Order: sequence, then C-alpha cells, then structure tokens
Amino acid sequence: MPNHFTPHAAGDLNYLKSLNRSTILSTVRRYPGLSRADIALRTGLTKATVGSVVNALSDSGWLREGELHARGGGRPGRSLYLDGEHHVMLGAEVGVKGLRVVACNLQGELLASQRLDDSPTTPAQTAAVLARLIEALRGDPAIATRPCLGLGVALPGPVAPQAPILRLAPNLGWVDVDFLALLRAELDWPAGVWLLDNEANAAAFGEFYFIEGAPPESIAYLSAGSGIGCGVVSGEHFPVIPRGHQGLVGEIGHTVLVAEGARCHCGNHGCAETLVSGWMLRESLGVEADASLSASLLARLDEPEVRAALARAGRALGLLMLNLHHTLNPSMLILGGSLMRLGEPLVAPALAYFDAHQNDLLRQTQRVPVKVVEDSTFTAARGAAAQVMARAAIEV
Ligand SMILES: [Zn+2]
Repeated sequence: MPNHFTPHAAGDLNYLKSLNRSTILSTVRRYPGLSRADIALRTGLTKATVGSVVNALSDSGWLREGELHARGGGRPGRSLYLDGEHHVMLGAEVGVKGLRVVACNLQGELLASQRLDDSPTTPAQTAAVLARLIEALRGDPAIATRPCLGLGVALPGPVAPQAPILRLAPNLGWVDVDFLALLRAELDWPAGVWLLDNEANAAAFGEFYFIEGAPPESIAYLSAGSGIGCGVVSGEHFPVIPRGHQGLVGEIGHTVLVAEGARCHCGNHGCAETLVSGWMLRESLGVEADASLSASLLARLDEPEVRAALARAGRALGLLMLNLHHTLNPSMLILGGSLMRLGEPLVAPALAYFDAHQNDLLRQTQRVPVKVVEDSTFTAARGAAAQVMARAAIEV
C-alpha cells in the first residue's frame, strides 16, 4: 500500500479533511474510550473540528458512543469506540498451500472465514476458486447485511509498489500477474477498496494496526511457510510499510547465505530458503506435496534425521532473525507462518541461535522481544483486511 498521505496540492481541503478524519479514527483505534475533548487534547485539533468529524463518523457507522464520564472536573463526555457492529472488510490470502478468506469488523475481530487447503494452480483458475470462496463468505449470516469496505488480497511474492501487480511468486511459478483484474472478472462486486500486497507485508500490517495503545516503534514480521518473507511496519497513527524501488523490501528468503549453494526456486543459488523453508523441508525429507508438512514431520520426530533437519533449519531461521535485527533494528520481532506449527524442534534452535549470537553492540541494549504466532492461519488475510480499513478510513 502506498504511504497514505501524499498531498497532491498544498492547501487541498479534501486532503485536510481526510487527514483529520483518519487521525481521529486512528486515535480512537489506539485509545478506545476517549471523549471528544480527550481527542482534541491528544490530536491538537479544535473541539469544533473533532465534534463535527466525530458526528459524521458516527452517522456513517464508523464510531459509536459509549458511557458518559467526566474527567478532570470538566463537562462529562461520551466515550467513543470504533463501531464493531456495522462495517465489515474482507481479506484473502493466496498461499502456496491453500486459500484463506476472512471478514473482520473495525476492531479487527474475525466474524467469518473460509479456507481451502488445495494448492493454487494457474492465476486465472485460482482467481475463479477464490471468487467462489469470497461469495460463500459474503453469504455468511454473520456479515451478509453489513456494508463492505472492500477486499485486500495477500500473495506469496513481491507486489510492484506503483501498480498492484504481483511481480513474482517463485513457489507458484507466477510472474507479473494482475490478480485483482482476474478477480474482478469473476466477482460481480466492484464496490469499495481493492488492494493487493505481499503476504508478509499484509500480516505485519495487521499485527501492528490492531495494537491498542502506543505501538512499538516498528515491528518486523518474519513469515516462515513454504517460502520465507518479511514485512516491516512503523508509524503510530499512519503505519507505513517500506517497499523499495521494485517492492522487494523484506524478500529475506532470497538473501544469499551460501555462495554457490543449492539451487533455489527463484533461479538463484544459496538463498536462505534453501536452508529453511517449507519447500526445502518437503524436498529433503520426502514429504508428499499434498500432505500437511507439520503433521507429517511431527509424526516422524523419533527419526534422528528429521530432528536434525529441523534443528539445522531452526538455526538458519535464527540466523535470519539476527540479520533482520542487525539490518532493521525493529522494536519487536514476530515469527509467523505455517512452519511455526512445528513448534519446539524448529523454534527452540532458532531462538537459541538468536540469543547466542547478539553482537557486542546489541548485547548492551535490551534484548528485542520475540513473539511467536503458533497459528497464523488467517494472519495475512486479516492483515489484508486491516489494509482495506486503513485505506477506507482516508476515503470515507
Ligand atoms: Zn531464492
């Protein structure tokens, strides 16, 4: 997603209105329960501006009023919250091993979901299957009558920063795919925000966006599944994802760790994915393409070869964490993706390597917290839905 606030013309009134509205929505999202006067104090906006924007947002189903309370001896004001009962936004993930679709309310709660555990085929066929899942989701009684803000789709590869086109998904063999156009052709539903992003970016965005209170300065979400990716997010009220010239920021799975190493799906040699990834573990340990990798390997933990392979892959994951830490210095590292289902045999060596190899500079500072998301089945889809909400908050 592009950075949200790029003024097109100095003094553009619509831009100013959009900025005020989005600032107020973000303040209520981070600090639920504030009154109009509290928001004015926090944002520096006048009480009159806050009052008129809050009224408009309440009328359009974005905010709801809660209890009456008095603070500091002033006039009592109504607490304000995001309205979780009105709008819905949809998020989808095309993963290497399946499709996911979720519907969330403005508070980030999952209201309904659909999943299919078949591997995607061609882009067009996948768009058709995903469209049927989305239609099934839209028919769910939990959301059928709610206004929909739009649809975000997460894909396993870098997305061009200027145009929403998937550049390359090495583990699907897709190149330069205008996936939203394929999806639009299948869905009779053009309204709202439509966006496309890399799955690790989407997951990172969702994890950061729905943090209540002041968020960390930045987070890095390391997504370890069939492939390896990373999303970085920072910015309290207007979270921003750095993307780079070609959308390749976070493609840590294709950083080269072994000169002239094993061949990677991306066409290069010695990438991180040749040391730790779902596809590498499948190939090296002989797990069938249609079998669950985690279930298959967890059932074989008594085989020394399997335990050793997971320990080696875990150390490579720890090495990647360390490289991320030294390169980006995030306030928090989050480990997600389907490989986290492997649990201790993979994660413990990763954390041990990370802890044991802090350099002298980092050793002197507080250790960066690491959060492990054991079940990230819907994390990227939910994050894509969060991106829809962030975009829609500017455009309402
Ligand atoms: Zn590679």
